[in-house]
Amino acid sequence: MEIYLYNTLSRQKEKFKEIYPSKVGLYTCGPTVYNYAHIGNLRSYLFEDLLKRVLLYNDYKVKHIMNITDVGHLTGDMDMGEDKIEEQAKKEKKNAYEIANYYTKAFVADIKALNIEEPDIWCKVSDHINEQIELIKTLEKKGYTYLTSDGVYFNTAKFENYNQLSHLPLENLKEGARVEKNQEKKNSTDFALWKFSPKDKQRQMEWSSPWGTGFPGWHIECSALSLKYLKKQRDIHCGGIDHINVHHSNEIAQSEAATGEKFFNYWLHNSFLNIVGGKKMAKSEGNFLTLKKIIKELNINPLAYRLASLQVHYRKPMEYSRESFLSAQESLDKLYKQIDLIKDKNLKTAKVDEKFKLQFLKAINDDLNAPQALAVLFNLLKSDLKDEDKLKTALDFDKVLGLDLKNAGSYLNQTIEKEKWPKNLKQLLEKRTLARENKDYQTADNLRKEVEGLGYILEDKQSGEQIIKKKR
Ligand code: AMP
Ligand code: ZN
Repeated sequence: MEIYLYNTLSRQKEKFKEIYPSKVGLYTCGPTVYNYAHIGNLRSYLFEDLLKRVLLYNDYKVKHIMNITDVGHLTGDMDMGEDKIEEQAKKEKKNAYEIANYYTKAFVADIKALNIEEPDIWCKVSDHINEQIELIKTLEKKGYTYLTSDGVYFNTAKFENYNQLSHLPLENLKEGARVEKNQEKKNSTDFALWKFSPKDKQRQMEWSSPWGTGFPGWHIECSALSLKYLKKQRDIHCGGIDHINVHHSNEIAQSEAATGEKFFNYWLHNSFLNIVGGKKMAKSEGNFLTLKKIIKELNINPLAYRLASLQVHYRKPMEYSRESFLSAQESLDKLYKQIDLIKDKNLKTAKVDEKFKLQFLKAINDDLNAPQALAVLFNLLKSDLKDEDKLKTALDFDKVLGLDLKNAGSYLNQTIEKEKWPKNLKQLLEKRTLARENKDYQTADNLRKEVEGLGYILEDKQSGEQIIKKKR
């Protein structure tokens, strides 16, 4: 079936046509590893994972590349300010490599928790300095660069189609008001390809180059890495909408200037995760939440965030609130219960239902309409199909949804039989029963908190019986 994707280049849904039959090259801009990813960043990776799974479900072979930015991303996005990694290293009294390693591991743990499939190739920017230098040399030879006192810059005025992605009049693409202006730039949209190390201090990450010791600018990495690993298979490139006007516009300019070829055919961008009131979640705003933090505080399964992200189309803004995530957890529990009820069916003779599958495909192939795809799943579960066919079809859909439905039962709060209660729990419960008999509700309440602190959920039945469940 045909797949339609909204291409930021044309600002419309386009029928997807791959470069090589049945194969797709996919490049997704990766994290800058100077801190934990926030759940806003993770929305980008969830969207890209949905895209990848939809392509795989449609029988494409996907080659997926993601960079790890461990050098060159400055605190000011317009090539001014400090390197984010080196600045964090100072704060944490570690070296830049330790910071990058630590936060890379944390990032990989987050995406695993969200059941996001890893890319085929991870590439660290600091491992690919030569490739970036070579690309800058090509641009220099072709006359697209100039030197300033702090680096080598790309002259955007020499590249005719600079605003092909942003569609903005060029005078609108000015440097942000907060950022100190670089007086030596020829055009406000010009950007650094190579930055020199400061004269008075040695950086932790720096390399020699034909222009002087320094480090690559932030944008050149994604061009060098896509060209190296995808070669001509440059089908789809993704990121958040904040990358459209600067980062991705710069990637296109320098890559197309160097190769004389179209860089990528399709550019897909996800909208933001905002906090209530419409403010973007961002590290620089200091309003960011990590996945670890919300899982702990709300006692939710990370896959509840995955479900919440599927409930909103990727091009629509999504709002974070405690209530919305708790309600996603409730929906996930309901779904897991429904699946758990039919889990023991023999799937050997079961069939994926063609009618529901067609509806599901129509939804996901229409610019990844996940909310619609979820509606198809819920209708399937409500339908009067045979249980085994329902289960088989739901598990088939889960290749795209990634909610780990096959293990549904293991995510439900499991009741622990009385005989298996550990001693310390038993003691607390006995004390609590006594307190309640003496109508000392304050003590009873404190004891309940202690029980919860041990990782249990306590439910009082009307009969007086106490039910203990293990927290997720
Ligand atoms: P960074 O690590 O800052 O390069 O960001 C990683 C990804 O997260 C990029 O694709 C950004 O566009 C995206 N991003 C940043 N903030 C948000 C947000 N609040 N909601 C959704 N995506 C975001
Ligand atoms: Zn990038």
